[in-house]
Amino acid sequence: MEFSSKLLENAVYEMSQLPGIGKRTALRLVLHLLKQPNERTVNLSSALLNLKDSIKFCKNCHNISDVVLCEICANPKRDRTLVCVVEDIRDVMALENTGQYKGLYHVLDGKISPMEGIGPQDLNIHSLVDKAKQGEIKELIFALSSTMEGDTTNFYIYKQLEGLDIKTSTIARGIAVGDELEYADEITLGRSILNRIPFEGSLKAN
Ligand SMILES: [Zn+2]
Repeated sequence: MEFSSKLLENAVYEMSQLPGIGKRTALRLVLHLLKQPNERTVNLSSALLNLKDSIKFCKNCHNISDVVLCEICANPKRDRTLVCVVEDIRDVMALENTGQYKGLYHVLDGKISPMEGIGPQDLNIHSLVDKAKQGEIKELIFALSSTMEGDTTNFYIYKQLEGLDIKTSTIARGIAVGDELEYADEITLGRSILNRIPFEGSLKAN
């Protein structure tokens, strides 16, 4: 792509670094912003900068939060004996949208993936095992996507919990293997967390 302006080229380059944004889309977005009042670009930039500067992660579950404990962890009505293990924050949002789940979450921030060089130490697994050892948790629900990486991560955590008196279950999903949790429809997802199955049972089925 040939640019008549270095300024334009830089803006397009930065925009195209976002996932799912190719050079053409980046150019379209940049030209769009150029036509808008200055305020639009200022608001966008400052919203992103404020987010990066001020965002916190809940110290209990690693969910995104504006304060030390996220709204879910701070809510006394939530069942603290039940913890749903998810890959990222989008999964928390998807499960919250179902309105069916009343426990807490634990956000791993990814899945174990030897192919991508992501090991257990790169994820929030240690804090989960520590929490499990404190004895308050009675059941851990695995809600990772049913990919090889998801299965590997579930199994790794399951092994770390050996000897602890904690029930493990996995969400019964009526969606195809490899589908990401965030794309499941709310009714299916809500039902799947209510009708979860013991994790050991899911191992034998494979
Ligand atoms: Zn939290």
